[in-house]
Amino acid sequence: TPALRIQNAVKTYANGFTALKGVSFDVQQGEFFALLGPNGAGKTTLISAMAGLSRLTSGNIQVMGHDVVHDAYAARMSLGVVPQELVFDPFFSVREALQFQSGYFGLKNNDDWIDEIIVSLGLADKAGTNTRNLSGGMKRRVMVAQALVHRPPVIVLDEPTAGVDVELRQSLWAFVETLNRQGHTIVLTTHYLEEAQSLCSRIAMMKQGALVALDTTEHLLHAE
Ligand code: ADP
Ligand code: ADP
Repeated sequence: TPALRIQNAVKTYANGFTALKGVSFDVQQGEFFALLGPNGAGKTTLISAMAGLSRLTSGNIQVMGHDVVHDAYAARMSLGVVPQELVFDPFFSVREALQFQSGYFGLKNNDDWIDEIIVSLGLADKAGTNTRNLSGGMKRRVMVAQALVHRPPVIVLDEPTAGVDVELRQSLWAFVETLNRQGHTIVLTTHYLEEAQSLCSRIAMMKQGALVALDTTEHLLHAE
């Protein structure tokens, strides 16, 4: 079973704009995969369809073999998404935000795992701090933590280093590489080739809603 299977994904928004023009590719389990493309390529549109947050106009997406529409709960449980925007309930502490997220997935007795996530993301000092009082970098870590509460095998990070300073970027990558070594499939979007090439084994290049290249990082670089 591929971690992700995307078949003929088409998305036309209500205003008539087609943001995905028939995109197909698979990501295998255990891969560290990059979705590379300039702003407007359709990366976020694709992620939101993977996460079941918006519906494709046609085509389908499976996460760990689960169709995101017809088997939505299983698909959602298999996927952790770290979105681009930092969105928090202003009344929650870090720990409460993670507990709330666990509740959203219907998980009970998740506190030991939440503690583990808090420690491994360097949030132990901030566990009781209200999320609105955190720095941007710390907020970013909480977004990653939230994506992990249900122990998803596949983790998607949408432009994880946008607006992030060098130090946090490096610790974020170290953490994501650890997740990958532990067997998680990692998919990240970026518009920086250098970032994709230093981290990922395969790269899908998107442009204006279409897949324009898909190859190993090595092959793509030699073709340049
Ligand atoms: P759909 O119901 O087709 O998934 P949405 O509900 O996501 O569409 O968006 C509704 C409307 O919001 C769109 O038709 C569009 O006019 C507007 N819109 C939202 N985001 C954008 C954007 N990034 N670029 C252009 N228009 C946007
Ligand atoms: P990327 O993440 O690669 O920058 P997006 O998926 O955010 O690309 O956007 C792809 C295209 O779809 C853009 O041209 C964007 O303006 C458009 N778009 C995104 N959301 C909407 C929407 N709700 N309605 C209409 N157009 C949208």
